[in-house]
Amino acid sequence: MINNNMNNMDNNIKMKNKNFDLIREKVYNNERLSVNDALFLFKSNDLITIGELANFKNYQINGNRVYYIVNIHINYTNICVNRCAFCAFYRKGKEIDAYSMNIKEIIEYIKINYKANNFKEVHIVGGLHPSLPYSFYIDMVYRIKKEFPNLLIQAFTAVEIDYLSKISGLQVSEVLSDLKDSGLDSLPGGGAEIFNPVIRKKLCPQKISGERWIQIHKIAHNLGIPSNASMLYGVKESYEDRVSHLNVIRNVQDESNGFKSFIPFAFQPKNTAVKNSSLTSGYDDLKVIAVSRLFLDNFKHIKTFFVNLGINLAQVSLSFGADDFDGTLIEEKISHNAGSANPMGLSVKSVKKIIEETGNIPTERDTLYNAVFS
Ligand code: SF4
Repeated sequence: MINNNMNNMDNNIKMKNKNFDLIREKVYNNERLSVNDALFLFKSNDLITIGELANFKNYQINGNRVYYIVNIHINYTNICVNRCAFCAFYRKGKEIDAYSMNIKEIIEYIKINYKANNFKEVHIVGGLHPSLPYSFYIDMVYRIKKEFPNLLIQAFTAVEIDYLSKISGLQVSEVLSDLKDSGLDSLPGGGAEIFNPVIRKKLCPQKISGERWIQIHKIAHNLGIPSNASMLYGVKESYEDRVSHLNVIRNVQDESNGFKSFIPFAFQPKNTAVKNSSLTSGYDDLKVIAVSRLFLDNFKHIKTFFVNLGINLAQVSLSFGADDFDGTLIEEKISHNAGSANPMGLSVKSVKKIIEETGNIPTERDTLYNAVFS
């Protein structure tokens, strides 16, 4: 009996080693990993080997450059008609802390911070406000670009774009063209959450489907508007759900090549309506980053979101496949409302120091990942 158990263990170890050997060979030969490879990696506990492979893959693509952007986040309103269970940011409208910024306030906010921080990008996302008119969004982008022609504007998730299409009666392509003509440079990657419709129905029943999210990004890419992709994890999704999500995104990228980066978002459960949930583990965070790096071979950049992971783990993730340390942000509300105790923003000096401590070269970038020499 004992001998039989030992033999079974030996066979399992041999099988695992064989799988790792095959995956290693693919990574070293720059061959695409299959869905089954990614599943095997997620199920494996050999985090160090997974990280080593992801680090190799990242080095092949980005060398030892780690990117960051000097940017500012603006969440123009927290009033939202969608009320997703996992969101701690939204308000219904009558609460004491419900707010909406008007265009003058947005411009003022940028002006004050612009002088002090000399940022290159403004990143704008907000709730789906029940009464702001379509013209507000177009004017917002137009006015920002007019006042700050050198700023790149990354604004409105696919969820907001779908909402703008609804409130205006226009096609998504018309909304995106209006925004582009007004000065929009890129779409952020939020709103993808996890594509599995069963989980999506529990987390965000009112939100657009995964198919709609994909459709909107494809339309944007066709119009020459680049975007980012993302995945929310830590919401009781299975490894299969993760791989299926990554596979859909990889297929879109094969078609359009319009995604600039991929951002895995660790779920922040505090103050949300999702019951019995906890923070993701550092172990899982690193695994998600590493498997994403290995599987998304047609993505140049994998972002580590220090607001959710914390500075220390984000630093470690730079040896597990991530090459983008995100930005200075200045103020971030969405994850902080959900309990993030990490900094809301960082100075350029701090970001550079954090990256240098990992033995990498901090490289300032713009929204489109062009290196900035300032
Ligand atoms: S996640 Fe977005 S759409 Fe959902 S409630 Fe929050 S702000 Fe609204």
